[in-house]
This record gives sequence, C-alpha cells and structure tokens, in this order.
Amino acid sequence: MATLVINSGSSSVKFALFDTLSEACLASGIAECLGTENATGELIVPGEKNRPINLRKGATATDAMHAIVAALRLSPALKNVDVTALGHRVVHGGERFSGPELVTDEVISGIRDLCSLAPLHNAPNASGIEAAQAVFPKAPNIVVFDTAFYQTIAPKVYRYAVPENLYTDHAVRRYGFHGTSHQFVSTEAVKRLSLDLNNHRLLSAHLGNGCSATAIVNGKAVDTSMGITPLEGMVMGTRSGNVDPNLHGYIVDQTGMTLKEVTEMLNKVSGLLGLSGTSNDMRTLTAHHLNGDSRATLAIEVFCFRLARELAGLMVSLEGTPDALLFTGGIGENSRIVREITVKQLAAFGFALDLESNLSNGRDRGGVISPDGTSPAVLVVPTNEELAIARATKAILS
Ligand code: ADP
Repeated sequence: MATLVINSGSSSVKFALFDTLSEACLASGIAECLGTENATGELIVPGEKNRPINLRKGATATDAMHAIVAALRLSPALKNVDVTALGHRVVHGGERFSGPELVTDEVISGIRDLCSLAPLHNAPNASGIEAAQAVFPKAPNIVVFDTAFYQTIAPKVYRYAVPENLYTDHAVRRYGFHGTSHQFVSTEAVKRLSLDLNNHRLLSAHLGNGCSATAIVNGKAVDTSMGITPLEGMVMGTRSGNVDPNLHGYIVDQTGMTLKEVTEMLNKVSGLLGLSGTSNDMRTLTAHHLNGDSRATLAIEVFCFRLARELAGLMVSLEGTPDALLFTGGIGENSRIVREITVKQLAAFGFALDLESNLSNGRDRGGVISPDGTSPAVLVVPTNEELAIARATKAILS
C-alpha cells in the first residue's frame, strides 16, 4: 500500500511515493515543462538508476500522471506497489479550509473559487486533482492546504487596516503560507526538545526560494510573516518581501510601467536576485560573497537583517519567551552564514549560537546549534512537506 503525494503546478507535476505503513519514501520525481515542446520528466527510485518519464510534446497534467504511473511500473522495486491514496498540496484554502479534506466535487469547486487569491497556484492544483482522479479512479484523494495552519490566528493579526468592505467583499486579509512545513518542523522540534505539548512557544523560519516565518504557541500558529499573497514579509529569492505600499504607484509614475509589470517585478526579479544583480541562489551568492563581491554581501546582509527583524516582530505574538527558534528549508538547513548573521542580530533577545554545532548540524539530520543548556534553543530541523502530506492523507482516511 502506497500514498502518492502530488504537487501540481502551472507547468510541472512533482510527486513522491510513500509506503503507507513504514513512511519510507519509495520514489520521487518531477514531470516538467508541461504544455510545451520540451515536456520532460525524471523518476528517482532509491537504489536504482534514475529513469526518464516519457512525455509527448505539449503533455498535460493528465498525460504526466499516466506517464508517472508507467515509469513507476518499470521499476523492479515498484511494479507491485498499489497506490491506495493520493495526497495533494493546494496553496490557497482561504477562510474555507482549515485542515486537510477528502476531495469531493464541492471541495474542487471550493479550490477553484479561491483562484482569484492564488491564480498561479490553485487552478493547476485543482487540475492536478482531476488528473489524479482520472488516472486512479478508485483511490481517494486528500487535499492539504498551505494556508490551513494559519486559520487559528486572531483577527488583530490577520486584518489589514483598510476599509472593512475589502475584507467582507473581497477576502482581503493576511493568510500565511508554508503552513505544512512550519507545522511539520515545529512538531518535530517539540519532540526533539521534549517540550510540553500544551506549553511551548516557537519561532520557525522556512527559508527556501520562498521564505516565511511563523510564531507558534502550543502547536497552533499565532502569526506569520506572509500576507494575502506570498509576497509579504522577508526578502526571498526573487521576491522583494515588504515594501512601502506606495511603491507601486511611485514606480508606475516614474517609469511608465503598468501595475501588472510592477507586481511581476516585485515577485520575479527582486529579492536576492534584485539586490545582487546576479543570482537568486544562496549557494551562488555565498560563493560570490566569499570572493569579495560587495553586492552579494549586501544581498545576504539585507536578507538576514530583514529575517531577524521579522522574527523579533513575531515574538510579540508569542506573548512570552520563545523556547526555540527553528531554521528549515534549503537555506535554513544549509547556510551556516545566514544562521550565524541572523542569530547575532537577535542577541538582545537571548539567542546565541554554538559556532561548531552551527557548522556540523546541517540538512541531513539537523540538530541544536545553540550552546548547551541555553534558552531559547536554536535548531535546524529538515522539513519534509511531502511526508507531512502523506501523514495527513493517512490520518484523514483512518
Ligand atoms: P524551494 O522553496 O524551491 O523548495 P529549497 O527549500 O530547496 O527551495 O531552497 C532553495 C534555496 O536553498 C536556494 O537559495 C539554494 O541556494 C539554497 N541552498 C541549498 N543548498 C545550500 C547550501 N549548501 N548552502 C546555502 N544555500 C543552499
């Protein structure tokens, strides 16, 4: 029995296959450049040679799903594996979805109704579910929403100070994203630090291409750095994070760009890429920084400063001293420089690093990187959103 986890985007389908009982990852891969001449894909099975996923030109999400199954069947280890359930990542659940749900026609139309809030994500997410239903007509589908973890945050935290009708008529409020990851790593941290399930306070920093931070009290999210869209908050790979809300109008006036072009610019060519002028990739920027590239250095400094400031702000929502600060995501798990610069700027709040642990406790297992016995603890916790979705799928079905 296996659970297939699907993350269906506008031009790709990422997937991971888990043994439902042991939670072992049996396979993973991606079908990408869908809808183009160059549609291509790869299947990774531990212990086997990577296999191509054969896709025709212009392949759709449904084609991709068929091709993934065909590739799985070619693996000697997997040919008898039975996909008994599917779990889907859905980006926006609005106020309607506050947890994982079994897919019904109403759930799919609910996801489509929220397309105006996440046009680039929810439509392909819904198409991916329909593709899975076509290819696995007997298996139940479960949806897990990136926003659901934040349905516990209070109105004073999620409302913007704008006229009320924007909230009541147009759903304008802060939602929060990366909830699956923050929930997964915070649950893991509670276990690793033997914290009291009903009495703990955590700050969690998910630093990947998208970056967000979350304040968590007793397993529940109480605040997030993100907003109505995943642009709010800290500096990200290509996203600006917070800017003056008047910036859009100013740029339009100064440059003649359209509002749409400004939005595109703030999402696609800003952040680390905009500041450095060379890359959105922290590995590349770190190498450039070590070679004396001052723009790469500035990009890293702004990234860490804005992250530290965001974390300091989130502490207000904890209403008490944090037990721990968690780093996760590609940058959070791997970049000792980012962790070091960020934590240094939080020294006034009692955060400190053990430099040796910061060097050695990376992506593989993570671990505590603050000096022994200090509080708050600082730790690296590798995220695994696919496993979190597989677990949620199993929980709903049982
Ligand atoms: P996504 O949000 O797409 O899932 P990831 O969580 O994989 O992204 O994070 C991607 C980021 O992690 C990139 O900026 C990448 O440079 C960074 N990263 C990965 N490995 C390292 C490393 N060893 N050192 C510094 N940054 C790293």
